[in-house]
Amino acid sequence: MKVVTTIKEVRENVKQWKKEGQTVGFVPTMGYLHEGHGSLITKARENNDKVVVSIFVNPMQFGPTEDLDSYPRDLEKDSKYCESLGVDLIFHPEPSEMYHDDFSSYVDMSVLTEELCGLSRPVHFRGVCTVVNKLFNIVQPDRAYFGEKDAQQLAIIKHMVQDLNMDIEVVGCPIIREEDGLAKSSRNTYLSPEERKAALVLSQTINLAKQLIADGEKDADVLVAKMKENIEKEPLAKIDYVKAVNGLTMQQQKEIKAPMLIAMAVYIGKTRLIDNTILH
Ligand code: AMP
Repeated sequence: MKVVTTIKEVRENVKQWKKEGQTVGFVPTMGYLHEGHGSLITKARENNDKVVVSIFVNPMQFGPTEDLDSYPRDLEKDSKYCESLGVDLIFHPEPSEMYHDDFSSYVDMSVLTEELCGLSRPVHFRGVCTVVNKLFNIVQPDRAYFGEKDAQQLAIIKHMVQDLNMDIEVVGCPIIREEDGLAKSSRNTYLSPEERKAALVLSQTINLAKQLIADGEKDADVLVAKMKENIEKEPLAKIDYVKAVNGLTMQQQKEIKAPMLIAMAVYIGKTRLIDNTILH
């Protein structure tokens, strides 16, 4: 496995592989890898000749009051993990390699980016779309792997690939959870032991939603109200949003029917966590 920091090195490696007729799977990440990332890498490993993982904490997708500086980083541990999963190349650029001083081109999507996380993180998806577009241009993968943990992001990337005619298959992968149900996230490291317990309210509320739907609930407003009521019982939790939306358009929907995304962002103390379930 190689670890490279320049765009030139990625291009040289990928060019050689393509010349040999090899397919390339790509997993973009911000590092501090866990089994959630691992599941994407494993899927990429199964379905492609070569696997590239990018590890880049992208400054453009963080708002001015967000956790860019404190975001956890551990390249050595990440490298060992990637190596154990059979990754061929890690791309770990400095911000200056990705954004030159005169950088001024952005991928700015409307509609899908304006709902859910886009409301409380107004610059986030512009940063995500721009960096993913750049990474796609650098790596030129056949397939790219994203987690349903970030379901809105996955829908946005699929839409971007379609809108901009990118010849890349975007593959969504299910949420990987801790044994007690908490969705795995690099940001879980911010939680104190007390907050870690309180954070279970997210997955428990997702389970409650699934149960209500299984029991025949059809009204999205009723569902969301019951979910909010459940979260509000936890004193350390503060709701950013709880929504039931069309899974493709991200627009609110009265009736519970597929494709539907039931998603939430909840602060546990200062840490903003997300969770969701998708009705396919
Ligand atoms: P991040 O490093 O948080 O930007 O995540 C990189 C990729 O891993 C994204 O496509 C995420 O959706 C995915 N991912 C993160 N956590 C999980 C998880 N618990 N289960 C599945 N995929 C995940």
